[in-house]
Order: sequence, then C-alpha cells, then structure tokens
Amino acid sequence: MERLISISVGELILKGGNRRFFEDKLISRIKRAIRGLDYDGIYNEQGKIYIEASKDVLDEMIDRLRKVFGLVYISPCIKTKKDMDSIEEAAIKAMDEKMAKDNIRTFKVVTNRADKGFPVQSPEVSRRVGAAILKNMDGLSVDLHNPDAYLYIDIRQDCYIYTDRIQGYGGLPVGTSGKGLLLLSGGIDSSVAGFLMAKRGLEISGVHFHSYPFTSERAEEKVKNLARVLSIYTGELKLYSVNILKIQKELNAKCPEKEMTILSRRFMMRIAERIAAENGMDALITGESLGQVASQTMEGLTATGDSVDKLVIRPLIGFDKTDIIDIARDIETYDISILPYDDCCTLFLPKHPVTKPRIEDIENSERAIDVEGLVDEAISTMKIYTC
Ligand code: ATP
Ligand code: MG
Repeated sequence: MERLISISVGELILKGGNRRFFEDKLISRIKRAIRGLDYDGIYNEQGKIYIEASKDVLDEMIDRLRKVFGLVYISPCIKTKKDMDSIEEAAIKAMDEKMAKDNIRTFKVVTNRADKGFPVQSPEVSRRVGAAILKNMDGLSVDLHNPDAYLYIDIRQDCYIYTDRIQGYGGLPVGTSGKGLLLLSGGIDSSVAGFLMAKRGLEISGVHFHSYPFTSERAEEKVKNLARVLSIYTGELKLYSVNILKIQKELNAKCPEKEMTILSRRFMMRIAERIAAENGMDALITGESLGQVASQTMEGLTATGDSVDKLVIRPLIGFDKTDIIDIARDIETYDISILPYDDCCTLFLPKHPVTKPRIEDIENSERAIDVEGLVDEAISTMKIYTC
C-alpha cells in the first residue's frame, strides 16, 4: 500500500489533439507549486495525475495544489495491488481513517473500472468491498442515496482508493491561453479580474498607474502586495509601474474637468497597449463592471475602449460588487484591497463626471494635448518589478 495524491483534471480531457500540450503545462505548473515539498515522483495515467508524496507534507501540498488552475479534484489516496483481497484491505484502512477524522455513520462505495480487463465488474466490486467494510468495522451502515461518506475505488493500471475529494478551482493551466496585461489598481475589482482570467489559462502581467509624489510609496507597495497574492495562482508576475502625474496635470490644465476620469483612463489603456505590444501580450484586462461608477456606463466603456485596438477583456462586466467581494475574500486579496490608500484617479476627481461621454467630444479635448509624446514619456520612466 502506497500513499499518494490523485488529481482529476477537468476540461483538459476535451482538448483533443492539444491534450499533450495542456498536460505538460499543467504538470509544470504543479511542479512549480509544490517546489520544496518532499515527493518521489509525479506521473500521468489515463487522464489523472498522481503525486507520490510523503505523508507529512500532504496537507501543505493539497493546500498549494488547490491554487493551481486546471485541477478539479484533489484526493489523498492509497495505491494498492489489483486483486480483490488487496482492494478490500485498503478500503477498510481508508474507511478507518475517514471515521477517525469525521463523524460518519453511513457510506457508499463508488467504483470506476477504467481497466476493462479487470475481471470483476464495477457494481460487484462496490458490493463486495461494502460487505467487507460492514463485516470488519462497527458502527457503519450503507446508504446509497444520502451517505455521510463515499469510498471511491479507481481501477486502472493499479488500483487507487480514496474518500475525500477536495475541490480545486478548475479552469485551464496558466499559460495555455496566451498572455494578457492586467490594469491593476489597488482596489477590489482588478485583482479579481486578473484571477479570473488566469483561471482561463492566461499568463498575466500587471500594470499600475500612480501619481507619485502626489500618491504615496505605500500605495505602490500595496499594489505589489496584491500582485504577490495573485502570483500564488499565476506564477511569477511582472508588474509595470507607470507614473502618470504629468499626464494628469496636462489634462487638468487643458481639458474639461468633467472628462478627467475618462481621459485618464484612455491614457492608461494606451500605455497598457504599448507595453502589451512590446512584450507579446494579446489582451488588456480591466476590472470594469457595467454601471458600477460614472465611467463604467455603456458610453464610458465605449469611450475608454475606443482608445485602443487590442482586445479588451472585462471579466467582471456582469458581476455585482457583492459577488466580486466574495471572490476577493476567497482568493485573499480583499484585506489588502480595502487598506486605505491614495489612488491616482481620486487626485483630480471631477465633481460632476460625464456619464455619457461622446467620442467626438473626447477626441476633441485630446487635440489640446500631445497624446503620443505623453505616452512615450510615461513609458520611458516606468519601473518593472517581479512579484
Ligand atoms: P478597482 O480599482 O478595484 O479595479 P474600481 O471600481 O475602483 O475597481 P475604477 O477605479 O473605476 O474601478 O477603474 C476601472 C478599472 O480601470 C480598474 O478595474 C482597473 O482595471 C483600471 N484602473 C483604474 N485605476 C487604475 C490604476 N491606478 N492602475 C491600473 N489600473 C487602473
Ligand atoms: Mg479603482
């Protein structure tokens, strides 16, 4: 009997000809996540991944694996020989451990016979193992409809037995969908937007805009901390930090006050697009949500998006704030996000922002300033951090 971790992968199964590519990426993501923990090997068998981990690192390993995208279920399991006696013995051991941990009275055995050459059919395996458990253990009965615990038996090249299925986030391994640049403010939304797109397989970098010395170094530190939390899910993350104070001063001096937010957003998009183009990233990601603030009306989003050609992804567009907060809490960005900080956007916040900007008006306002020159200058002084 050996101990290991078994991992079910979800959508990967669907990827047909690209399956190898997805599996290799996933395994490299897994290896990176469990770096430093003791394990003998990792292998792939008929669409499942197994890690031969030593028992004392199991909890920590599972905790880290939960944050790797592409994993659907993670189970500590027992590997045993493929004969009924060994299976029954391992099943009793697994149930014994389950009972010591959780207060259970009823159970159900679920068998999956991936190896069709195994002579006993699945329902018969379940029945026999169930009977062996009843015979050898006190205080348990079978409940096929609403059991307190399941005992899973996977018959493959070897046989794997487990009781717990810890849910992962699912999604696709980071790096299988291309690269995106996340506009990362210090607020709640943008980190969640980055998390959601990384979960769909995008490799993420971040860009943050600040107005130092009007905004503080602490504000930048906060964004780096958010990027560090994100990097637990995304892997090492590059953060571009761009000072837009000069742009804001120009806008403030030469453009209508009520358009300030939209105009500075358009600069953010342009700068982000330039960074993305220079670094092989194919999309910009924002935390915008329809109707959340004056600049995120249909007209506001149109005017903002109109400043760039690249694909703009807004994963939160249809989310309520409460739903976004739930995710932020779960992924542990929330507590950092709500720390008070000075945001470059509040610096020149208009008292009455336009809610229905017209592109013609916005473009007209921009004629008063040197858009390209300001973008160039901002980019030439940007800093890059690895988080
Ligand atoms: P959050 O700041 O959490 O994203 P919000 O409701 O404050 O949410 P806005 O400030 O209106 O949103 O900004 C909309 C989007 O524009 C943000 O989600 C983010 O993607 C981008 N953005 C805004 N300010 C910045 C900034 N200082 N640096 C980088 N991106 C920004
Ligand atoms: Mg914000």
